[in-house]
Amino acid sequence: MSYQREKQIAIQAVTAAAQLCEQVRQEEGSLTLTKPDRSPVTVADFGTQAVICRVLAEAFPGDPIVGEENSSLLRQPAMTQQLTGVTHYVKHQIAEATPETIITWIDRGTGQVADRYWTVDPIDGTKGYVRGENYAIALALIEDGEVKLGVLGCPAIPIHPNQPDSDRGVLFVGVKGQGTTLIPLAGGQPQTIRVNECDRIESLRLVQSVESSHGNPELQAAITQSLGFITPSLQIDSMVKYGIIARGEADLYIRLPFPLESSKRQNIWDHAAGVVVLEEAGGRVTDMYGKPLDFACGTKLFNNQGIIASNGAIHDAVLAAVAQEIQAAETSKFIP
Ligand code: AMP
Ligand code: MG
Repeated sequence: MSYQREKQIAIQAVTAAAQLCEQVRQEEGSLTLTKPDRSPVTVADFGTQAVICRVLAEAFPGDPIVGEENSSLLRQPAMTQQLTGVTHYVKHQIAEATPETIITWIDRGTGQVADRYWTVDPIDGTKGYVRGENYAIALALIEDGEVKLGVLGCPAIPIHPNQPDSDRGVLFVGVKGQGTTLIPLAGGQPQTIRVNECDRIESLRLVQSVESSHGNPELQAAITQSLGFITPSLQIDSMVKYGIIARGEADLYIRLPFPLESSKRQNIWDHAAGVVVLEEAGGRVTDMYGKPLDFACGTKLFNNQGIIASNGAIHDAVLAAVAQEIQAAETSKFIP
């Protein structure tokens, strides 16, 4: 399979979604609503899921879509104003949108994991989005548990690595067996990207979450220290981290559970697109025990704990350091 049509449709959907997110961010004063699980959600999360699901459903009517959001909050009578707001922004992308069709499109994204399905995180890193910093729109196609296509829309990162003042907004597009390309969100030629293949410890860089509660920063620091990293780490919200490693700006992303034995599992939409973007650029992604991520078992990565994403060259050394730190942390529990 070349996935040519899937790629073109996914790029179209994520580009429209990114335009919506940026318009909302420029025009809205207060962005946040709170979901029943107390996590933040915005008018743009709903609008983005509506746009992406509508584009996918038109092109691939038989494909299930597993998205992060559903319309239950937005359908409450007290949310009329927010639904009007979502409609206003979606109309800029899809002229015939109405409140009713938007509800239908959002809920098109409440499908089940199947042999072939799409997964979408309409805004990954909502906290970064609300802060005016980084976030990603993430869309992936999975077949037989393997990610075949991933598109990451990253409206807030500079087009040129290490040039903070260059124009912002990129798409990372990874297709199984075909490599990873970077395309400016405003349009332009796709450019093939590769990880940094250097394994000289002194130049390697960690990238991790801004939100310390999303990982295990103390253990993550112990691991990079034991590996001998000396370059200061980057803190970036969302799956942008995968793209940053894919284009060689950083080398390692560690996301360990806190506490280590936590039974919480990662959502599939928080990693799927990033996995193929990074692997096709020459990197590697596993869980903290070195197992590949299993996207066939439901909406969460039930068979995996923690995430290690790297430039590939250093992956085995990182896994060995992680194993040592896990063992040290477990041993210390038994020493009074
Ligand atoms: P990041 O910007 O990399 O920190 O990741 C954003 C993602 O973290 C969101 O999509 C959430 O699904 C996820 N998240 C939210 N709370 C937590 C938590 N306590 N632990 C781990 N991940 C979380
Ligand atoms: Mg997310």
